[in-house]
Parts: sequence; structure tokens; C-alpha cells
Amino acid sequence: MRRIKIVATVGPVTESLEMLEKLIEKGVNVFRLNFSHGDHAWHGRVIDRIQKINKTRAYPCAIMLDTKGPEIRTGDLKVPIQLKKGKTLILTVDHASDYEASGKVSVNYDAFIYDVAVGDTILVDNGNMTLRVKEKKKKDVFCEIIDGGELTSRRHLNLPGKDVSLDSITDKDWADIHFGIKKGVDFIALSFVRSAEEIRKVKQFLQDKKSFISVIAKIETLDAVERLGSIFEASDGIMVARGDLGAEIPFAEVPIVQWEIARMAGQYRKPVIVATQMLESMQHSPMPTRAEVTDVFAATWQRNDAVMLSGETAGGKFPLKSVEAMRSIALATEKNYLTKRSIRRTEPDCERSEFCKSAAAAAIDLPEIKAIVVITRSGHMANMMASFRPQVPVLAMTNEIDTCRRMQLVWGVEAAEIKFSSDPEKTIQRAMKKIIEQKMCSIKKGDKFVLLSDILAGKNMMPALQIREF
Ligand code: PEP
Repeated sequence: MRRIKIVATVGPVTESLEMLEKLIEKGVNVFRLNFSHGDHAWHGRVIDRIQKINKTRAYPCAIMLDTKGPEIRTGDLKVPIQLKKGKTLILTVDHASDYEASGKVSVNYDAFIYDVAVGDTILVDNGNMTLRVKEKKKKDVFCEIIDGGELTSRRHLNLPGKDVSLDSITDKDWADIHFGIKKGVDFIALSFVRSAEEIRKVKQFLQDKKSFISVIAKIETLDAVERLGSIFEASDGIMVARGDLGAEIPFAEVPIVQWEIARMAGQYRKPVIVATQMLESMQHSPMPTRAEVTDVFAATWQRNDAVMLSGETAGGKFPLKSVEAMRSIALATEKNYLTKRSIRRTEPDCERSEFCKSAAAAAIDLPEIKAIVVITRSGHMANMMASFRPQVPVLAMTNEIDTCRRMQLVWGVEAAEIKFSSDPEKTIQRAMKKIIEQKMCSIKKGDKFVLLSDILAGKNMMPALQIREF
């Protein structure tokens, strides 16, 4: 069983029922819908298809709604334009401006004219092109083209190190979050988070609507990097959004931030997704570059919970091969590190986490242990168990189908639904039956396992750790 999970972005090349099914067969655990593109009708159709497939499968996939956030983007262009080094490009906040008629490229954000200053650097399309502000006149910003390239429609603009006055969560984001609640998505990935306060606001909104959607904070601004601890605390998970991050802070520092987040994940016991450009060349080529292979290796070796594909599966030529490549690199990496003894990276901080630490230790000391079975409602205990990165799979047995889907983002956990009984032993028997029937992680009758569950002690329920046999 592969421990690290795969998140794949759905786009025009993968929106069909057939392609979504094939992606799952190749190993996708979570589908990401990028709300920077597409409308509610399109996203709604894709969600319906995933939910239809989920009804036919033992392990339902999860759905992540990724908000657009306060992005600054260029407007639509009828045809791409070539930006030539040394020439001038005029950006304008006049939305009526049409490039063919005016020679100016529109920008979607009115306060852009006030937020930029002469001498500022503007990165276009995650740094594929660079501009420097020369002059501002009324609604127009005159820029010198420092690094040229091809400008297509709706490209992202970054103002490195600048504190822009855009709202962190836009009206469109709130409408999209509301849509996600109605459609029953599992995760909301919040773009351009600057502080824990924004996450708390979204969580309050969800709570008011009686929704249990998990909130993933995308780390892609300097402010977020400086407030990692409080953001970890407030969120249900983290995405290292390396595209924008590498434009907002010096790109050379992105791996250090990625490394630090992987380290902190053990301390805060929250899932971490490493995202963007992991297999970028596979948008056009059937085989990854060796540098990309090493990037997926590194994210797997750091024992992050998930790796993510963006353009590779949304619009690339080889979406299925991209998932296959990611899966095979992850498996090759894990085959190596799972044989090493020292894989725990976190210390217990409560009674239940002491149990988890002991379970992970038992799986090392007793080679006959084939799995750790956790009886869990919300998935909290399974997530805690996984944070110790045990050598054997964690089987999360839950009475909530939503928990099964949420566990698709957690390292080393495979989840299945069972009915809970008021008698804990009956629940345990149902869990064991399901694991054998469903052949979860190839477990067979007679295999030994560690069980983390509640037991009846007299009239009281108590958490317990047992070693048992299927
Ligand atoms: C990123 O910037 O790396 C990212 C994941 O966000 P988006 O794809 O929404 O720009």
C-alpha cells in the first residue's frame, strides 16, 4: 500500500466520467477543483460525476475546492502576445480596454494602480515573465519588459513582497465556499492566506452552516510563511503552494519553507500537501525529467501526506501517465524508507498520543504485526496515529462515510465504513470482518494487528491498546 496520497486537479482533459474513473484506477485519492477557472455549472457537473463514481467504489475519493482568492490577473486576449525584452508593456485598470484597439493589457483589480510604485517588480505567470514599473499615468501602468515571453489570457501577476489592499477572501470566494457546502465537498483550500484569522472566519462560516468541511491553508505569501505556527494551529491542513510562493518570496527559499512545513506537520499533526510543478514537463512529454523525479522523491521522503498534480492532469497531454509516474516514484521511495527503523518524527503530547506512540513502536518491535486498526468517528485518532508514521498501514474503521473521504488525504491511512454498536467488542468484530472481506491492505485471517479502540471497563469506556489476531 502506498502511504503518500495523490491529489489531482481536474480540467478540460480529465472532466469526463471515463477519465475520472481512470485517474482513480491509476491512484488518485483526492480531486482538486480550481475555482480560478470554470463556473459553478462546470464544477457542479464534475462533482456529480465524482460522487456517482464514489457510490460504486469501496474507497470513495475526496473532493477539494480550491478558491481563487484575491488574485491579480491580466484580462482576456484574443491571441497570445509576445513580450520582448527592453520594450514597454502598458497594463491598465480600464476594464473596457481591448488590446487589439488600445495596445494595453487590462488588469482585473482597480487598486492595482495605487498598490504598485515606480521601480516595483511585477512577476507574470508565476515568474515566467518579469516587468519593472517605469511610470504611472491615470489608469495606466507603463512597464519595462525585463524577461519576455508569450502572454496568454488571464495570467497571474505577483508583486513580490508588496502588501496589496485586496480582501483576503473575496465575494467570489464566499459564493464558491457556499456552493461547495451545498455540493458536499470535503476540503476547502484557501488561497493567499495571510493569517490564522482568515481561516477562523471560514471555519466559523462553515460551522454556522453546520458543515464539517476541512479547511486547508495554502502557503503562498510572505505573511503566511512568517505565521506558520498560528496557521497550522487554526487550519485542518496545509498546502505548500509553490507556484505563487516562489513568486512572493525568493524562489531559492521555497525548498527551505517546504522542509520546515514538513517538520512542523509532525508537531501539529496536520496533513501537508506539496503542490505545483512536480511533474511539469509531463504536460507535454510522456516521461518526467530526472529533476522532477527527484522532487517527488524528496516530498515522499519528507513523509508529507500528499503530492499534487496541477496542469499535468488539468490540461496536459499525459494526465494518466503523470499519475502513474507519481505513484511509481512514491512507491519506489517508500519501499526504501519503510524498511528503516527510525520513522517516528513526533512526540506524544496527551494520553491518546502515548497510545499511538506505543502502537508505532509495537509495529517496529514485532514484525508479525501487519496493521494498526483504529476505531474512529471523526478520524482524529487515525490522523494522530498516522502522525507517528508507523511502518504498517493504519486502517481507520469509522461509522461516517465523510471520515472515509477525509482520510484520503492522510499519510498511510486506508478507511472503511462500519456500523458502530453500543458494545465496543461488537464494533471491533465488525471492523475485523470488514477488513478481511474487503481484503484491506492484503490482510489475511491469522495476521496479527495492533488495535486502538475504546473498551468497556466495568461500566466505563476507556481507550485501550491491544494486540490481536484476525
Ligand atoms: C500555487 O500557486 O502553487 C497553487 C497551488 O495555487 P494556484 O494553482 O491556485 O495558483
